Amino acid sequence: MLKFVTFAVKVQLNVHDLNNEAVAGNVTDIRVMEFLDENGKRQEAPAVSGRMLKHWHCEGIRHLIISGEYSTIPLCAGCKAGEPIRPGMINNGNLSQNSGITEEEAVQGCIVCDTHGYLIATPETTAGEGGVSARRSSRVMFSWLMPVMGMEAVSKQVIHNRVSADPKTMMPFNKSYASGIYAFVSALDVDRIGLVELNLGSDNPYAVDDNNGRKDRIKVAIEAYRYLISGQIGASLSHAIPHWDPIEILVCYSEKGPLPFPVSPIYPDYIVKTLGVMPEGTSFLYTGKDSPEGVNKKEKIDEIFRELLNKV
Ligand SMILES: [Zn+2]
Repeated sequence: MLKFVTFAVKVQLNVHDLNNEAVAGNVTDIRVMEFLDENGKRQEAPAVSGRMLKHWHCEGIRHLIISGEYSTIPLCAGCKAGEPIRPGMINNGNLSQNSGITEEEAVQGCIVCDTHGYLIATPETTAGEGGVSARRSSRVMFSWLMPVMGMEAVSKQVIHNRVSADPKTMMPFNKSYASGIYAFVSALDVDRIGLVELNLGSDNPYAVDDNNGRKDRIKVAIEAYRYLISGQIGASLSHAIPHWDPIEILVCYSEKGPLPFPVSPIYPDYIVKTLGVMPEGTSFLYTGKDSPEGVNKKEKIDEIFRELLNKV
């Protein structure tokens, strides 16, 4: 059975608004990140944070559960309400001070708490007590979405107008849109979905059994990538769906154990280097225009997802 999957994705995104985070007055600017090119020279370009990618993977899971065939998978009240860091702390719509639930209960009761982890910080009292936090580490990991080396990433500010019948209440505002060839890497630690580390050593350290929901959780966590890859990221999809084109996707998976992260597709030789770091027994699936040696080339992205889902 599937234990670990990594994704290395290279996509072209034209005229997107995936990470408008810097707001100044009525100007919403796109987030720009500094990085080094292959010669160590400082560059700046629009980028999307890994937190944002993780958030939208989580939204993909929620969407699939709320309106799809995975409706039997549980979500806790906090995650249903878009507060995915406080399992058990929302009761009848009210935020309580303490979760009062164990990790096992949190995992059983919610796929997002299980796969995306959480952190509950308990404030320290004046007497110096408390300050303990309950945490579960995420089973899904993301890099930032960054432009590919040597490719120019551009952005442009556009003036929009909030239309009103009364010309006096018309409100012009600026937004930035960016275009570029981008890449990200991600890993899904399938084997630790449903696992409670504190119970390691007991007969069954899993809080959710394979045939009682765990396999469905794994499948929906994989399926959510389909939506993420297609640019279903960001709050501006109603008017700025990115013009996306998948250029290359390299998926590595293992039925034996954990895998290292793949080399990022922002570098030209990432496939050879990724194949060079993965342990024996790793399977490699690829779509794209090249035909690299050592990978199982698929014509359609769907074939990659089907193979992964068949291994669950
Ligand atoms: Zn939850």
